Amino acid sequence: MRVLVRGAGIIGLAVAEELLLRGHRVRVVDPAPCSGASGVAAGMLAPAAEATWAAPGVLDLGLRGLALWPGYAERLGVPLAPAGTVLVARDGRDLVEARRQAALLAEHGIEAVPLDPAALAQVEPRLTSRAAGGVLLPGDRSVDPRAVLAALLERVEVDAGDDAVDAGVDAGVEHDVEVLATGCSLPAPHSHLVRPVRGEVVRLRSDDPPSYVVRGWVFGEPVYLVPRASGEVVVGATVEEHDEPAAPTAGGVRRLLAAATELLPGLDRAAVVEVAARDRPGSPDDLPLVGPTHDPGVVLAAGHFRHGVLLAPLTALLVADLLEGADPDPLTDPRRLLEEPCTTRP
Ligand SMILES: Cc1cc2nc3c(=O)[nH]c(=O)nc-3n(C[C@H](O)[C@H](O)[C@H](O)COP(=O)(O)OP(=O)(O)OC[C@H]3O[C@@H](n4cnc5c(N)ncnc54)[C@H](O)[C@@H]3O)c2cc1C
Repeated sequence: MRVLVRGAGIIGLAVAEELLLRGHRVRVVDPAPCSGASGVAAGMLAPAAEATWAAPGVLDLGLRGLALWPGYAERLGVPLAPAGTVLVARDGRDLVEARRQAALLAEHGIEAVPLDPAALAQVEPRLTSRAAGGVLLPGDRSVDPRAVLAALLERVEVDAGDDAVDAGVDAGVEHDVEVLATGCSLPAPHSHLVRPVRGEVVRLRSDDPPSYVVRGWVFGEPVYLVPRASGEVVVGATVEEHDEPAAPTAGGVRRLLAAATELLPGLDRAAVVEVAARDRPGSPDDLPLVGPTHDPGVVLAAGHFRHGVLLAPLTALLVADLLEGADPDPLTDPRRLLEEPCTTRP
């Protein structure tokens, strides 16, 4: 098939790469490739740690996505961080949150190991000795999304710049189907299906980073720290719904750094290397929109909210299978949120 993919974030690129592998002709257009959420994402592949946030169904999709990642990372030549996630509670009330999460995971048969303060200190000695306890989630992983984007860009050519987008779409470049992977700005008539959910992140460089992904609650404030092999530690992320331009705020950065250094006091000496804010593409029910629309020439690959990195390989398979005749996945089928076109004759 001849496929036009609009959007070169992790989703558009992953879809394009899968289609190219299967022998389809693919053109990707994006005025600013990799400029959206994918370029700042922390890269947690963490269905278990995300379970409290997740809409019903996201956990199921996330586990399917996580299962694909080892093979996907190997194919792209990108390392996966081997350690799991440690959920850390700073005080007794935070511990209630951590235990609630462990109980939820147990219901789904997902391994979650409760840790008292002594066990927590053994697992991750850099954590504050004042933590009330925690939970180890051995199954979660992480990856550097910038390395993934770079690997995908080696395999997928992108027409960038405003002219390319106009040429690709308006000048009638021939294609059988168009895949919309434009993150939080879906074009009409689908624009109402995504909303921007702002996330701020701070990148630190430390000579003593944690060995696990650390997620915690610090006096009610959620925070995560994602270490990379290079010594970089991604501290994130705020969650805010508004439509102002995506810019980091003093208050957001202050809260993130306060929570991060409360959990890992050694980070006080880390260098700040980057502060960024981007919008996550949220859907009305927080489940992705991957599949057909009522227009047979338009397929959506959008609305991945907090899980676009985790779900990129799964999305690529779902879109490619769909274009080759498979049924859409009912969990992600966008038509659940689209009104049927009016077919009544006058
Ligand atoms: C702070 C933060 C942390 C995150 N951490 C994680 C995490 O740890 N794990 C995880 O799984 N997910 C995480 N996410 C979520 C994840 O980043 C997103 O779900 C994912 O990046 C969405 O990818 P995308 O390709 O759909 O969108 P984007 O990366 O936003 O890319 C959209 C692309 O479309 C282009 N575009 C826009 N309009 C047009 C148009 N009209 N024509 C052509 N191109 C267009 C843009 O230029 C952009 O390049 C995080 C997000 C944020 C903000």
